[in-house]
Amino acid sequence: MTYPNTQLFIDGVWQDAADGRTLAVENPATGQEIGRVAHASKADLDKALAAAQRGFEIWRDYTPAARSKILRKAAALMRERADDIAKLLTQEQGKPLIEAKGEAMAAGDIIEWFAEEGFRVYGRLVPHRSDIATRQMVIKDPVGPVAAFTPWNFPINQVVRKISAGLAAGCSLIVKAPEETPASPAALIKAFQDAGLPEGVLGLVFGNPAEISEYLIASPIIRKITFTGSTPVGKLLAGLAGQHMKRVSMELGGHAPVIVAEDADIALAVRSVGTAKFRNAGQVCISPTRFLVHNSVKDEFAKALAAYAQGIKVGDGTAEGTQMGPLANPRRLAAMAEFQQDAVEKGATVLTGGSRIGETGNFWQPTVLTDVPLEARLFNDEPFGPVAGVRGFDKLEEAISEANRLSFGLAGYAFTRSLANADLLTRRVEVGMLWVNTPATPSAELPFGGLKDSGYGTEGGPEAVDAYLNTRAVVIANV
Ligand code: NAD
Repeated sequence: MTYPNTQLFIDGVWQDAADGRTLAVENPATGQEIGRVAHASKADLDKALAAAQRGFEIWRDYTPAARSKILRKAAALMRERADDIAKLLTQEQGKPLIEAKGEAMAAGDIIEWFAEEGFRVYGRLVPHRSDIATRQMVIKDPVGPVAAFTPWNFPINQVVRKISAGLAAGCSLIVKAPEETPASPAALIKAFQDAGLPEGVLGLVFGNPAEISEYLIASPIIRKITFTGSTPVGKLLAGLAGQHMKRVSMELGGHAPVIVAEDADIALAVRSVGTAKFRNAGQVCISPTRFLVHNSVKDEFAKALAAYAQGIKVGDGTAEGTQMGPLANPRRLAAMAEFQQDAVEKGATVLTGGSRIGETGNFWQPTVLTDVPLEARLFNDEPFGPVAGVRGFDKLEEAISEANRLSFGLAGYAFTRSLANADLLTRRVEVGMLWVNTPATPSAELPFGGLKDSGYGTEGGPEAVDAYLNTRAVVIANV
């Protein structure tokens, strides 16, 4: 399987960094270097900024129909190229080929949905109070050039939500994509280029994340910041954006509670959250992490989840039949070892897993711990790995309090056959996305985003386009 070096994309041209610098890209299944990615310097960022300004001035005047045509073509290209793109994504990120192809195909759906939504950027006419014939209008305009920062866990999905909504609104974007996984987001940008997007409307850079974000956020050209990643980095960037009075969307970490009520369908719960927990080796912001199970069914649930975890085939994502790949980088492996040791020291019981697999690559066993004490790190910090922690409760209200105890508020799951329980959970669990009796089913048409420390703004539904629009009032009197 081949793997390309990745260049910067500035002003419609793929190019090396001005000073020729590059960084290594490693395959997390082997630890081997598989390619290089260009490392942008300030000179490259200045070029990208000037191009984004020019691109914006062109793109904002395209009609929604003209924008939609290009977006739809990009969606078709992503689907056509999904097999090849999946191979890049698996080599650089580790997830099984089938998940990687799913991510590339889903990009097609997301782009297409936003291509249509661009037609529905409506203003309003507001009745006036004047005796003179007057038109009072509310109009929506694109905010301007956007700086988008995206992480390595879904190298395509995290980027495509921002690009599609931003382009549909008429913005240009400079994307700072992850250095660990550069080739698959580059393939996405290439699909837009080949679909006929004018030069400068999309830029792609890599390099030192802190240096790039500081430089782009401070630039007067950039009018909006959007970031997906950890809460500490999100707070840093939101603070920086505040200093420069820039619009911000933040899609940050989570610590999703799973509430399994006394009357739950246990088999459905295990199937649903088992898939969700170990997908992408648990490196998912909406991954279920705190399993709160009614004491009358806790042991049955924990045993079944452990059996599910034992049945998962772990290996190189490119190998036939692999269901879970390696963790994306050695940092995650070290984090898993710390979570494990801490939980056991504080009294948790290991039902399955709990160790690294082999000496090569970042493989960690699908792990289920039970009777995890609240003070264990696993129940406080985002695990971002294939580790499930179970603990019991007696009353639903207790589980709801525990769900809301942390500062995170991204996703939540619940299993119950009672409408009254489902209604109570809907009203009380403080999360941006709640799935009841179902695995997570995020889609372009539904809001995607969190509350509290999980960020603000949403990356799905009409509100996602709104995040890239200014709302203005214009009053014209007929004199
Ligand atoms: P990290 O906090 O070092 O980095 C997270 C992401 O932010 C990376 O993509 C990184 O390149 C970027 N980043 C870091 N500093 C930045 C800066 N100053 N300016 C701009 N971008 C910056 O963590 P990590 O070790 O790469 O990932 C582990 C943690 O990140 C996880 O525990 C999880 O909380 C979080 N994460 C969340 C998501 C998500 O989907 N919300 C995705 C990936 C990682």
